Amino acid sequence: MTLKDIDESKLTPMMQQYAAVKKKYKNHILFYRLGDFYEMFFEDALLVSKELELTLTGRDCGLEERAPMCGVPYHACDVYLKKLIEKGHMVAICEQTKDPSECQGLVPREVIRVVTPGTLIESSMLDESSNNYLCAFYMKAKEASLCLADISTGEVHLFEFSGKDTANSAINELSRFSPSEILINDAVLSNKEISAFIREKIKTSVQLLEDADFDPEHHTDEVLTQFSVNSLDSLGLKADSISAFAVCGLFAYIHDTQKALVGRFSEITRHDADPIMTIGFTARRNLELTETLRNKQKKGSLLWVISNTKTSMGNRMLKSWLEQPLINPAKIIDRLNAVEQLVRDPVALGEIKEVLGGVYDLERLMTRVMYKSASPRDIKSLSLTALKLPDLKKQLSAFDGKLLKDCNRRISTLDAISNLVENALVDEPPANVKDGGVIRDGFNEQLDGLRNIISGGKGIIDDIAEREKEKTGIKTLKIGYNRVFGYYIEVTKSYYDLIPDNYIRKQTLTNCERFITDELKVAENTILGASDKILSLEQEIFTEVRDFIATQLRIVQDTATAVAEVDVLCSYATAAIKNNYTKPEIAIDGIINIKNGRHPVVELMQTDEVFVPNDTYLDLGSNRMSVITGPNMSGKSTYMRQVALITLMAQIGCFVPADYAKISVVDQIFTRIGASDDLTAGQSTFMVEMSEVADIVKHATKDSLVILDEVGRGTSTFDGIAIARSVSEYISTSRSLGCKTLFATHYHELISLEDELTGVKNYSVAVKRQGDNIKFLRKIVPGGADESYGIEVAKLAGLPSKIIGRAKSLLGEMEAEAIKAKAAAAKADADQISFDKISDSIVTDKLRKTNIDEMNDEELRAFVKDLLRYV
Ligand code: ADP
Repeated sequence: MTLKDIDESKLTPMMQQYAAVKKKYKNHILFYRLGDFYEMFFEDALLVSKELELTLTGRDCGLEERAPMCGVPYHACDVYLKKLIEKGHMVAICEQTKDPSECQGLVPREVIRVVTPGTLIESSMLDESSNNYLCAFYMKAKEASLCLADISTGEVHLFEFSGKDTANSAINELSRFSPSEILINDAVLSNKEISAFIREKIKTSVQLLEDADFDPEHHTDEVLTQFSVNSLDSLGLKADSISAFAVCGLFAYIHDTQKALVGRFSEITRHDADPIMTIGFTARRNLELTETLRNKQKKGSLLWVISNTKTSMGNRMLKSWLEQPLINPAKIIDRLNAVEQLVRDPVALGEIKEVLGGVYDLERLMTRVMYKSASPRDIKSLSLTALKLPDLKKQLSAFDGKLLKDCNRRISTLDAISNLVENALVDEPPANVKDGGVIRDGFNEQLDGLRNIISGGKGIIDDIAEREKEKTGIKTLKIGYNRVFGYYIEVTKSYYDLIPDNYIRKQTLTNCERFITDELKVAENTILGASDKILSLEQEIFTEVRDFIATQLRIVQDTATAVAEVDVLCSYATAAIKNNYTKPEIAIDGIINIKNGRHPVVELMQTDEVFVPNDTYLDLGSNRMSVITGPNMSGKSTYMRQVALITLMAQIGCFVPADYAKISVVDQIFTRIGASDDLTAGQSTFMVEMSEVADIVKHATKDSLVILDEVGRGTSTFDGIAIARSVSEYISTSRSLGCKTLFATHYHELISLEDELTGVKNYSVAVKRQGDNIKFLRKIVPGGADESYGIEVAKLAGLPSKIIGRAKSLLGEMEAEAIKAKAAAAKADADQISFDKISDSIVTDKLRKTNIDEMNDEELRAFVKDLLRYV
């Protein structure tokens, strides 16, 4: 039975209320609060019972048939919500807006929040080490704007693009932030390149909205004031600018879905002013920056190597620094100098890390404060963190470098918060205010008075018990308490005849009877009234404390950011000490010079073979392209990735795995690596390879770093070599490119490029032949490889000896044929030469034997004609 095909007027009033709310949230699952449960009815119940494997029951709804129903307990709803969101659903939460005990008839209900993948705030549903971005993506003609917000931390980013690179730039930002939810307008959907990327490459939930949903005319300041942003003007945005559309689209959506979230966002980071290194989707994946290509795991990624953060905020910032390397040399140097100071003082570093160990997630705690969902323990965590800050500031004050000093300046000790919370809250508050016992004795006089009544109350009850015992002579008389009868006097069977007349019987049990008296009732009212009052007063005080902390949002946010930065710098320093990294020299002359560089991940992952370090020298002149030849499995890919990773590490401000490194800032890193077969997207390996190459030649500049691994491999040998050659020629000679390039190939035919193109240098991976076997030396040496060693590598890989033997004899035959063909060609050339020689000598001979002075015109003409036959 579904809502669509029933007569709503016949429904019970409550079901009519349900139907009315559901109409507004047709595309959502409606969690309808009923007592201690969120119930779902009709089609939602059918769907959810299946998705979450819940029992499907029914409820009388006024019709003959019962309405299908299933439910989840409200206190444990996060688990169910998480599963539904992960399965791609959106959930509207409909709460009772009045206490049912205060209502006559139907309890009013309202949707208080819509839960979508991009608007999560529950820590149980979020990954503490990653940001969770919601993105509004608005396009008009060739212009695009992206506004991204993480509701759980409060950060907002804004981008605007125009011109022919719009789609590409937008795709780069989507790869960088990988938002969990994207709001788009029709123009985005119609852009083939972008919609294919969103559909195929990133895991995200997409909402197609009307253009009007983005239009500032429809929202203007009403939406923006919700977020402490007063107007578009204050953001420096014109109402008709494309960015204004993205900003309004995003905030209007948050406003609609998060009704209670007020003032969480404070500042929008605009990215047009401060460019960063561009790393496309492919390079990000191939270089395994935050997860491995194959298993999508952190272990084995660059992030894993440099990740030694102590706080969740630092963890998230480390990831975002890694995803956005800097290109401003001064900023990179500031970070490197800070890391150097920390590396040089391991004692201070250890102490700072210890303090950071006690720092909680200020950003997400503040979101819960703003959301009014912070628990007493959350508030206590904020205060405990604040108490650590003076110590942190003291440690930092020992450093005089620019960045650490600046961080220290931005960290506030948050005294106002810690003073208030430490005075107001007990040392170990309960998880829920409703449990009571949150506020400390001595903080509020009224509360202390009420508490005295309770503790005095215990004395009153004891007095009554004593007195009654004496008066009645019932030795076993005692006073107990339960929820149903309140306080009662209990008399055991053997004393029944001593029960006085003023005792009012309440309950008879096997061995005893329970009574109340007027005096006991009066005492009970005083005590219970006081404990009710205590609970509501505690709640009131707690709300005041929480609301005060909410007023400190900006200062806590700034502190949180600075603490996170310190944490990342310490994390870099720790990695540098642990793995023996050096401080790179940052340059702008286009030179990358690395001595004994190592691959940061392979050197740690590899246990059976010692990692062999290698040098690199690239510049913008005669060393712009290194052609690296060598057999498969010899270490070409590892070497090239190592150069890219060292460059990237330097530009995020981290020390690098090398004895020495001079790194000239690069604007983009491109990769075309290995067989990243994208069969799921319906593309063959070769197509992927070629479209990656196309992307590189279209977008690389002279300041980029390009890594090409085996271009042209996915097709026939001649095609492959031809493509590989022409791509390298184009990259190394085209005026707009000429960028630093590492090009690995097993086509050793390509070593001739060194002689033909300026800027190309040959390198190879050294291999030692030992009889029939080869040994990889892993050393990159000048000069090209002389052969491919394909069969030897196949043997190393364990191909049966019969196949190896046959391959060898085939190779022998092919080589013999090639030699024969070469000899024939040489002979043909020789013939050509001797024929030329013969003709020359005939002509000379004839000229010598003839006296042209004796010839008349006709004879002369005939003679020349004859000679011309030999020329
Ligand atoms: P290729 O690209 O030439 O096929 P790879 O770069 O994939 O070769 O290297 C093959 C393996 O060799 C790697 O998985 C790694 O274990 C090992 N290797 C590569 N470079 C080194 C090195 N410099 N030192 C030690 N082992 C290395």
